[in-house]
Amino acid sequence: MPYQHAVQVSCRFRQCIGEDVLALEFPSDNTVMLQNGSIYTFDHVFSMNATQDMVFNKIGAPVIQELLNGYNCTILAYGQTGSGKTHTILGSKVEKGILPRIIQHTFEAITFIDADIQVTTGLFEVYQEKIQDLLNPSNTNLRIREDKEHGIWVEGAADIQVKDENAAMKLVQQGLGNRSIGAHLMNAESSRSHCIFLMTITQKFSTGVKQTGKLYIVDLAGSEMVRKTAASGKRLDEAKYINKSLTALGLVINALTDGKSKHVPYRDSKLTRLLQNSLGGNAKTHLILTCSSSSANLEETLSTIRFGTRAQ
Ligand code: ADP
Ligand code: MG
Repeated sequence: MPYQHAVQVSCRFRQCIGEDVLALEFPSDNTVMLQNGSIYTFDHVFSMNATQDMVFNKIGAPVIQELLNGYNCTILAYGQTGSGKTHTILGSKVEKGILPRIIQHTFEAITFIDADIQVTTGLFEVYQEKIQDLLNPSNTNLRIREDKEHGIWVEGAADIQVKDENAAMKLVQQGLGNRSIGAHLMNAESSRSHCIFLMTITQKFSTGVKQTGKLYIVDLAGSEMVRKTAASGKRLDEAKYINKSLTALGLVINALTDGKSKHVPYRDSKLTRLLQNSLGGNAKTHLILTCSSSSANLEETLSTIRFGTRAQ
């Protein structure tokens, strides 16, 4: 399906059992009606009953095609803590999320391509505007570099060649383990940092043509941090940094989609700078909004929906 917008925006609601829940209705597979009657339209809307397989089929499978066609792609999960970002991206062993499914189906797809294919992966965390290499925890506070040949990359970060699905998933698991044990990150819970997975596919055809596609999959920091009034000290700093980068992300996406901005403020945060060549332009960007269906979270859900609406 051709893109209607520079950024494709989907919205997924998670089940909240045992809580007072919103009276949500899903009039079609791309609309949601809130209990006050307002209707929001996105490229895809996933109700509480949507399976991981449905999310993969609508978003993951097309991304694999784009990636193999040499496009840079980005999948971002945006929402408050507990709304299902990590569930949607990683999932569990029994209900694998979009990332492991993309890895699995990519390796299946490339067996049918007549080319010399190299797949590499990287895993990063951005915490308080510092980039940490999760595949090599001693690589902290890394710099972003850019040149004509390679585009944008993280200097000194591991970008490891993987032969199959198992090797790729093993690296992801190892890297995620490094999230919590990095000495200076002891108290940083996952909701306070952005976790960024990178998969690069280089295809060399017998004609001599070389084609590279990069996929970033980003589990963003909890969006509620932007509004939470943190008292002081470390928590206040964390909130400030998250505020800065999620605001920057919103401004970059708005500038890409409003059709009139001449300046896109990529350099306002590490996250947007790193994703610069994978957001807008020729790149394929998919924003997945994750929302709670609990009444108690209505304000955050509305804020998440507004973020997505502005991105269209
Ligand atoms: P976040 O990463 O946004 O903080 P999580 O993905 O960790 O949120 O989700 C919080 C909890 O809710 C987890 O236990 C997760 O397994 C569960 N959960 C989230 N989304 C769904 C869903 N669509 N279906 C079933 N369980 C979900
Ligand atoms: Mg999470």
